[in-house]
Amino acid sequence: MPSLDLPLFRATFHGDLFTPEDSCYDEACCIWNASVKKRPALIARCSGLADIIAAVNFGREHDLLTAVRGGGHNVGGRALCDDGLVIDLSQMRAVHVDPAKRTVRVQGGATLGDLDRETHAFGLAVPCGVVPKTGIGGLTLGGGVGWLVRRYGMAIDNLVSCQVVTADGRVRTASASENDDLFWALRGGGGNFGVVASFEFTAHPVDTVLGGLLLYPREAAVAVLRHFRDYMASAPDELTAYAALLHGPDGAPLVGVIPCYCGTIVEGERILEPLRTFGTPVVDTIQELPFPAMQALFAPSFPDGNHNYWKSTLQRELSNEAIDAIVEHASRMTSPLSAIVVEYYAGAAGRVLGGATAFPHRDLPWDILFVAQWTDAAETNTHREWARVGEERLHRFSANAHLLSALDLEPDDVIGTAFGPNLPRLAAIKAKYDPANFFRVNYNIKPTPSQPVPA
Ligand SMILES: Cc1cc2nc3c(=O)[nH]c(=O)nc-3n(C[C@H](O)[C@H](O)[C@H](O)COP(=O)(O)OP(=O)(O)OC[C@H]3O[C@@H](n4cnc5c(N)ncnc54)[C@H](O)[C@@H]3O)c2cc1C
Repeated sequence: MPSLDLPLFRATFHGDLFTPEDSCYDEACCIWNASVKKRPALIARCSGLADIIAAVNFGREHDLLTAVRGGGHNVGGRALCDDGLVIDLSQMRAVHVDPAKRTVRVQGGATLGDLDRETHAFGLAVPCGVVPKTGIGGLTLGGGVGWLVRRYGMAIDNLVSCQVVTADGRVRTASASENDDLFWALRGGGGNFGVVASFEFTAHPVDTVLGGLLLYPREAAVAVLRHFRDYMASAPDELTAYAALLHGPDGAPLVGVIPCYCGTIVEGERILEPLRTFGTPVVDTIQELPFPAMQALFAPSFPDGNHNYWKSTLQRELSNEAIDAIVEHASRMTSPLSAIVVEYYAGAAGRVLGGATAFPHRDLPWDILFVAQWTDAAETNTHREWARVGEERLHRFSANAHLLSALDLEPDDVIGTAFGPNLPRLAAIKAKYDPANFFRVNYNIKPTPSQPVPA
């Protein structure tokens, strides 16, 4: 570890600083995924914007490898780094709703749960993800898909502006009218461009939704997935639904469909009827739910302290052959805590042009996630192998493309498949705002100054 001259930094920093000598250090570098064990030299837990500026300047001046921690939910552990500096936003979680303008200002370390709680007080919601503890920071910068994706688009489609501390320590606003190149890059380009101190979103009138779980015995998996696919092809945008191959609490293998309808409840009952009357579900919990309760449905499935390794792949179509491969691989699941999740987007998210934001894959509506989760560290290789092989088996159906926020530990070449044709423009914007690649503990875009930034 580098030897750090901390007294001066302490004098300018109002939040908490943790070094390996501090009694709370181990707790401060613990994140949700137990597989991630990293030992930073210094954790700077910021209390506000001035602390972020101080931390960025300190890291740059001392040439420290620097990570940024939002909600700490990146599965590969990019919230932390070994030996370097962690700019920790976990105490910056304020959310301010402007109900008249229907906008929300969210600090960079807030979680989905923080956001939903405050917006729900006004009968509003911002499209984000599906697990309350996930950080708004990493989720939004990676694109952000959730229960409102088909009606109101991805999280990035609802972003109005960001307040960003760039690598030079300057505070910049990024919006359609200010630093619009940076604004474009932040909408899907990950944590490459600076520390986002706060995000401003548009919120939508979503109060209660019709949602819940439909579960069937695993034997019905092929039929359920085919019906789900066919049904979603003509479903209205108000309906977002995922399917999953998972296990019940008693270990029974199941297949499930999880719908969320955000229009009127009466209309939702009619729309969901074909889903609910298909086959013989063993569980049907679909009911009117406050939106935060819908958002919390998956929370118990992702407790702190389990080991996780995820692989995913985007597909243009979900063919019968792909369904067969998914169901067959589910039968080889090595842990009852693991799952395969079949997510379908399209709708409003799919109507945005691929070049309009940094996230390019608007035409690939199917995302297949292999979520390996287990409790015994000694079994790590077995479960990781299951997820890896699952994604490999889908290669022949996939578009070789990825949603950034669904990535885990990946080889460098994943950058090309995550950013596709938008990579050259992202590399040029990176060169403008972070030419020394200070922010590199992420899905890293190498600064490429020779690339002109298109107007
Ligand atoms: C249980 C679970 C459920 C999930 N569900 C969804 C879902 O429904 N939809 C979806 O789209 N994704 C989902 N994800 C993926 C999730 O969006 C990504 O893992 C995302 O990176 C998490 O953001 P975070 O802030 O918690 O992560 P962190 O690990 O803190 O950060 C991830 C990356 O973003 C950067 N970063 C974070 N905050 C900031 C900031 N304020 N400024 C600059 N850089 C920042 C970090 O440096 C790092 O590179 C889920 C992940 C988990 C573990």
